[in-house]
Amino acid sequence: MLSPNLNDYDALYSSFNWEEESKLLEGLPGGKGLNIAHEAVDRHANSHLKDTVAIRVIRKNKMLDDYTYSSLKTETSKFANVLSSLGIQKGEGVFTLLGRVPELYISALGALKYQAVFCPLFSVFGPEPVFQRLSKGEAKVLVTTKAFFENKIKQLLDRLPSLKLVLLVDINEDISEKILSYSKWMEQVSGKFQISPTAAEDPALLHFTSGTTGMPKGALHVHKAVYTHYVTGKYVLDFHEGDVFWCTADPGWVTGTSYGIIAPLVNGVTSIVDEEEFDAMRWYGLLESQKISVWYTAPTAIRRLMRVDLNPKETYNLKNLRLVLSVGEPLHAEAVVWGQKAFGAPVLDNWWQTETGGIMIANYRSLKVKPGSMGKPLPGVAAGIADVEGDKIKIISSPEVQGHLVLRKDLPSMFRTYLHEEARYQKCFRGEWYLTGDLAKIDADGYFWFVGRADDIIKTSGHMVGPFEVESTLMKHPAVAEAAVIGKPEPSIGELVKAFVVLKDGYEDSNDMKMEITGFARKEMGPAVAPKEIEFVENLPKTRSGKILRRLLKARELGLPEGDLSTLETN
Ligand code: AMP
Repeated sequence: MLSPNLNDYDALYSSFNWEEESKLLEGLPGGKGLNIAHEAVDRHANSHLKDTVAIRVIRKNKMLDDYTYSSLKTETSKFANVLSSLGIQKGEGVFTLLGRVPELYISALGALKYQAVFCPLFSVFGPEPVFQRLSKGEAKVLVTTKAFFENKIKQLLDRLPSLKLVLLVDINEDISEKILSYSKWMEQVSGKFQISPTAAEDPALLHFTSGTTGMPKGALHVHKAVYTHYVTGKYVLDFHEGDVFWCTADPGWVTGTSYGIIAPLVNGVTSIVDEEEFDAMRWYGLLESQKISVWYTAPTAIRRLMRVDLNPKETYNLKNLRLVLSVGEPLHAEAVVWGQKAFGAPVLDNWWQTETGGIMIANYRSLKVKPGSMGKPLPGVAAGIADVEGDKIKIISSPEVQGHLVLRKDLPSMFRTYLHEEARYQKCFRGEWYLTGDLAKIDADGYFWFVGRADDIIKTSGHMVGPFEVESTLMKHPAVAEAAVIGKPEPSIGELVKAFVVLKDGYEDSNDMKMEITGFARKEMGPAVAPKEIEFVENLPKTRSGKILRRLLKARELGLPEGDLSTLETN
């Protein structure tokens, strides 16, 4: 077994220095700055890794599309040259609306080389969410397919005056001066491109995150974010040369860009991309056939695999799998314990968000895992729990006290603004601290425990109840597959705790079952915190990235406006 890159958490945490660590990145030749694409691609294409597969795309029909570091350098250089030939300026927005196909990865890295601002849109968004993002982000170029163009974009063109060019990846000839063939333009240009001087603070990536209401917010990140991609790849994902890594997230979400594109390449490993959607047997098959060693996925996927317990370790050869990581939602203790047994590898939860651009709190191979905890702050990250009242902030030093999860803001991958919403951005900070919008607590050993989104906290009979705590307990009941908990206004107690429960196959949604689960919850949590109402449902509303939309359950329960639903999973 390879020894972990992070051997002694406390020692690294106390000595860590971002600039020192990042000296292992190369910087642009001649001291001309820092560019993500240089660190991710060109640097390795000029090294002994040049013939190593950088990205392997597994097409829907299971055919493999391989790009070595060397061929990726050529392809991304071509894309940068296409942008140049088409008169695109540095700093302008290059967007993609594509499935997980090679052109997405080439456009992303080519745009970064060219110092355009890259923004990936999730391909299943309908026309309105696409419009909101293209218009707010002032997209200049969109790379997409003919079908997406016909079905989603064509009708929007009049409303998108900034959009100069659309490149279609599956046509051979240009349609008009504005609608061009990606392949034709890629064939015409040189495969050599010298990256211009890039400042670490130059804008690089734009990621939209759904607000609880209203329009999505555009979090803007800079090239310096690559420090975090590199450091988290090294110490959290524990990349070693020769690793084969699979991040299951779509680049339409920040995880699919930071960890589905950048971090593995910056660390010189092979990154697997699956064009297909979740399918338990396909996924296990890929873990086996691709000899995946590090696997980054989400709680919702792990829960789905738990539901179809295929006994993977016995049925598939998973001996290469060294590490499984999860992000996006709380990972219940049950899932951590099940995963370790089912995959034969540790399942490590970690926490971050669109705004932070990379992993901030994590479990590490060398640190004892407390199932249900998010772990400890990344070396280089100062995280705390705070009382926040208006403009005032007070860091809480005692353990086990619930409060706002805050981070010291001076971080390389911290977002630099919400595009066109500077006031909204400023509201996220109190002095040196960034307010994450989550509630958490720290235990006596310094482990962080997620409590809930501040918006989702339930105030019942004088208690502050985090939905995660109740959901985790409900999931311990053998009949419960998934649960989501909300607060429902109830004059006598403030809010009552209501649980929406999905039962495992083979269990009946009877009144007796409701009584049994209620009794179980009361015994485990006490009557003040246990749900007073339980409703059985077939499915929980989730975002396409797999997060349970509690605010939607609440809005529906109370007959309130449903807010921004652009990220809702509809199938
Ligand atoms: P997004 O910006 O859409 O990626 O959402 C970020 C939010 O997801 C965080 O603020 C948390 O509320 C939640 N989240 C992400 N990772 C975790 C985790 N490991 N445990 C609990 N919540 C998480």
